[in-house]
Amino acid sequence: MIVVLLGPPGAGKGTQAVRLAERQGAAHVASGDLFREALAAGTALGRQAQGYMDRGELVPDDIVVEMVLERLAQPDCDRGVILDGFPRTAAQAEALDAALAAQGRRVDAALAMDVPAEAILERMTGRRICRECQAPYHVRFNPPARAGQCDRCGGALYQRDDDREETVRHRLAVYQAQTLPLVAYYRQQGILRQVDGLGGVDEITARLVRALDAGAD
Ligand code: AMP
Repeated sequence: MIVVLLGPPGAGKGTQAVRLAERQGAAHVASGDLFREALAAGTALGRQAQGYMDRGELVPDDIVVEMVLERLAQPDCDRGVILDGFPRTAAQAEALDAALAAQGRRVDAALAMDVPAEAILERMTGRRICRECQAPYHVRFNPPARAGQCDRCGGALYQRDDDREETVRHRLAVYQAQTLPLVAYYRQQGILRQVDGLGGVDEITARLVRALDAGAD
């Protein structure tokens, strides 16, 4: 089964995609992770993507499509795939459909996680990370005992550039303009299932699983 997970940045797609992949015995393919791996490995692909990622913009379609299709050709993807963060534009969705059709496959389901922009802003702009041990905190939902200081190692907490309010607002605007139209695209194909993305992690996993088992909206 090939499942596309849609939703704004900060909706919790990554967390849910890992859980769904485990449940379905499928591969988890996250385009953002593939870029971050390429960046860490210092490859040409990583260097090409870096500027766009830093600015909260989308990497050009041809680069993303080539990278993801290459990943989908690996044998672990034969048992099913949970796509996380791809496709993000109509051109990517069409390229994916064409590549799958050529192999007699198709996207079986698109799960759209609905999370209001205000909730995303609160979640993302409140995140803080320890400079020393990378432990994650949230100023409201998971605050450290002493403001600005890591409970585990005493390191200083900082805010990542891509969690700053201007960047988050920009990424949300990019999502609205470029990715939200995919909800209609998959609805038209009759494979869209919309899921409330607010609540506890387990609760949301249960909703996604129910939506997958139930069929299209
Ligand atoms: P993510 O971890 O999914 O939020 O992705 C991090 C960054 O990688 C995004 O802000 C984009 O710059 C880039 N990226 C990831 N997936 C895509 C995609 N499907 N299309 C274009 N850019 C992407």
